[in-house]
Amino acid sequence: MFTVSGDFDSANPQQDGIEKITGNSFIFHAFSETAIESFKFDTKISNNSSENQSIKLEIIWSTEPFSELRDCFYWKHTADTDWTVIPASTALGRSYINFNTAPGTGILSLHPHYGYDDCERFIASLDHPALQKEIAGKSEQDRNIWLLKASTLIKPKPEKKFLISARNHANESSGSYCVEGMLQWLLSDDPLAEYALSRHEFYFIPMSNPDGVADGMARHTAREYCADLNKTLQWHKDNAPEALHDKSLNVYYQMLDRIQPTHFMNMHSYLFKFQDELYALSPDHANRLFKFMPNQIEFNKIWKTKIHDHKLLPTGYCHESAKRSWCK
Ligand SMILES: [Zn+2]
Repeated sequence: MFTVSGDFDSANPQQDGIEKITGNSFIFHAFSETAIESFKFDTKISNNSSENQSIKLEIIWSTEPFSELRDCFYWKHTADTDWTVIPASTALGRSYINFNTAPGTGILSLHPHYGYDDCERFIASLDHPALQKEIAGKSEQDRNIWLLKASTLIKPKPEKKFLISARNHANESSGSYCVEGMLQWLLSDDPLAEYALSRHEFYFIPMSNPDGVADGMARHTAREYCADLNKTLQWHKDNAPEALHDKSLNVYYQMLDRIQPTHFMNMHSYLFKFQDELYALSPDHANRLFKFMPNQIEFNKIWKTKIHDHKLLPTGYCHESAKRSWCK
């Protein structure tokens, strides 16, 4: 009565990792390119009957650390406008889910699904005189790496250059939803957005790792010889020189050198349900953000702050480059 598919953009596992036990019971073998993290699960489920039916899933992860955090999934039927939380029980390296669904098809994910195709559709939907869209480069598998710029500058130079980037880490889809929300606000008719666009430049790299996203990776750009876009070129030279050729890695750092941002927010996401984490250069940097975005108690979220030198990260690369040469 159910069919399950791993044959789509961003799926993990793919079809060969899905075992049908009965018509409403399946075992999934999720894959991961890292030895530590297996935090990617996206599957398409179809209830082919004409009434609500329950389905039973067992997910076998390729890693054991953080098993207890894989107890919360997200479901969206094609008829739904938003994601529904589906609780799971866990054992070491396993998650177990039982849930009821209406006839038709939906996606079940560990992080709400947002694939390469979704990003392409979103960018194609944007049409605004303040927005410039550019394909800054291509990934190893020839996917688009977009750079978007929003501004209506009234002076020769911007006061600030803001850069927002998302999806260094392939599975961390919340960054993509944040980018959509930020751009929708910036291009709205809110007078504050119009004010901001007239004084500053806003750059967005909405999907820095399109191959990793499309191929269902947990973190990196590929299964082998892969780059971690949240690490500097120097880190790759020292730790993973075989990944230095990676086109997404090189396009990313070329964009940073071109943009020379004065402010850089790199969006990631976590499995922790009740806290969000901010890596900030100083308590002052963190507090400036918290004034406008305090703990969201209504969504059961509080901030945890980590004061961090960012030395091995792209944000740290920009901070050091700005001190050394960009701002001279
Ligand atoms: Zn991350």
